[in-house]
Amino acid sequence: MKANIFNIQKFSVHDGPGIRTTVFFKGCPLKCLWCHNPESQNPKKEILYDINKCVLCGKCVEVCPQNAVRIENNVVLTDKNKCNHCGECVIYCIPGARQVAGKEYTVDEVLKEVIKDKVFYEHSNGGVTVSGGEPLIQIDFVEELLKKLKENNIHTAVDTCGTVNFENLQRVAPYTDVFLYDLKIMDDEKHKEFVGSSNKLILENLKRLSQIHNNINLRMIIVEGVNAEEKHIEETLKFIKDLGIKKINLLPYHDIAKHKYKKLNMFYEDHKMKKPTEEKMQAFKEMFESNNYNVKIGG
Ligand code: SF4
Ligand code: SF4
Repeated sequence: MKANIFNIQKFSVHDGPGIRTTVFFKGCPLKCLWCHNPESQNPKKEILYDINKCVLCGKCVEVCPQNAVRIENNVVLTDKNKCNHCGECVIYCIPGARQVAGKEYTVDEVLKEVIKDKVFYEHSNGGVTVSGGEPLIQIDFVEELLKKLKENNIHTAVDTCGTVNFENLQRVAPYTDVFLYDLKIMDDEKHKEFVGSSNKLILENLKRLSQIHNNINLRMIIVEGVNAEEKHIEETLKFIKDLGIKKINLLPYHDIAKHKYKKLNMFYEDHKMKKPTEEKMQAFKEMFESNNYNVKIGG
């Protein structure tokens, strides 16, 4: 059994408690306008190309066994239908303008990698987080990985967008110490507009998950122009009232991932989004705190 993973990030301090290793899985059912990991959306491997690093040496054209690369108007173009992601062009690209996003791992390969930092997890009350994309799409793999992490006494966190069959959440719940559950927009019409699908399943799964698991943290991205409104916070408060949510992370939008869209040849609609002001973030924090929630601005 193998999974397509695009990053194993060590010393992560924003994806759950303590020092963690975050394993990012490829593939996501959603398409959020602000997605910070656009390379996670496609479940298949992809080539990233950084035009700013490219010196147009033509080495990638020369070495590609599939004849998938050509240079046109001083830009390197890759034929997605021909490329089999062998990685040959990446090896020979000396300036590092080419990258493959996605690599197949077995459960034991991931385990071997993450266990190297066990001492840091133990000293910081940290552990391992599975994220993405949506990790629970690759459910058999994730369930097995979490099981093995628990056998090795490693703290586990599952970062999920909630758009999965409830059965998948049920399957990982016994091996998950904390769920990091993303709640994006309460208004369903807006959710469809900015995320690409309805929020009904996400809300229903959150309710059901709270009945079988007692450690759920909410992760709420706040984007000016999308959901940075009191109404969104009020509706969230109403919805989570009896769900026993342990902690809320309010994550202010930023456009740090913009460069990745260019590398993937994807369009980034940043004209629709803005970073919320610090005052607004503080006001939202206080709204949750006055309802006795443990809230942090940031991851
Ligand atoms: S090998 Fe790298 S630097 Fe050379 S043309 Fe290809 S992408 Fe550009
Ligand atoms: S990854 Fe392999 S097949 Fe794809 S463009 Fe590079 S050399 Fe060609």
